[in-house]
Amino acid sequence: MKFDFPIIENCILKMKQKILFGTLLIASLGTVSLAFAQQTTTPPLPPQATEFYTPIPPKVTPGAMNHQAPSDAIVLFDGSSLSNFVSAKDGSSPAPWKIEQGELVVQKGTGDIQSKLSFGDAQYHIEWSAPTEIVGEGQGRGNSGFFLMGLYEVQILDSYESKTYTNGQAGSIYKQYPPLVNPLRGPGDWNYYDIIFKAPRFDKNGMLTSPATVTVMINGVLVQNNVTLKGPTEYIGIPNYKAHADALPIKLQDHSNPVRFRNIWVRPL
Ligand code: MG
Repeated sequence: MKFDFPIIENCILKMKQKILFGTLLIASLGTVSLAFAQQTTTPPLPPQATEFYTPIPPKVTPGAMNHQAPSDAIVLFDGSSLSNFVSAKDGSSPAPWKIEQGELVVQKGTGDIQSKLSFGDAQYHIEWSAPTEIVGEGQGRGNSGFFLMGLYEVQILDSYESKTYTNGQAGSIYKQYPPLVNPLRGPGDWNYYDIIFKAPRFDKNGMLTSPATVTVMINGVLVQNNVTLKGPTEYIGIPNYKAHADALPIKLQDHSNPVRFRNIWVRPL
């Protein structure tokens, strides 16, 4: 009788494969059931494990209206005096702008004014109104500016119905970011700016370690969503950071137009 060895060998190989497959299957089932057993035996976290009781956020009393200074704000201008500002040009006091009916009015040619106090990270509220007498257009109409740390301009401009470059209109980070939308009110009406600013950080060698960021709302509408500043505001050329102090005064710009301000407050962060 003649044996067909290749056929027998083939049968043996197939049996080996089946045994191996079976062993792997059993091993896998064992691993899965072990993992399942471990999962079911670990006690679940109680809700209290992710609840914290300290530090307690300080109580702050909000203003009677949302635009009014809360109890922990530093009021820089409340309509009564310019005692918190000096001339940015020569530091002279009082600052050379005028108060009319409780509103601070830019005086053409007198130069920017700046706060006596210095700020780094902060939340700001500023209200401004463009001149009702429409003069000029583009960057020449109702131009002023709010300079964070005296260096980084959030543009103030009557761009309600006046064309200019988009990264120079009201609510822009001047020549860096246009506003997301234009929620301005017209000349004579009050625009509310709410700004959250994180100052840039520099190491001891003066190298930038963290750029400034800013969020801006105009009249409650988001126009700058935590944008990263490229450096100090430049009229010409590319901005570049230069090391500066952790806190610096804010500046209001004299751009030769009688823009009016009221209700300026800040909460250092
Ligand atoms: Mg300006």
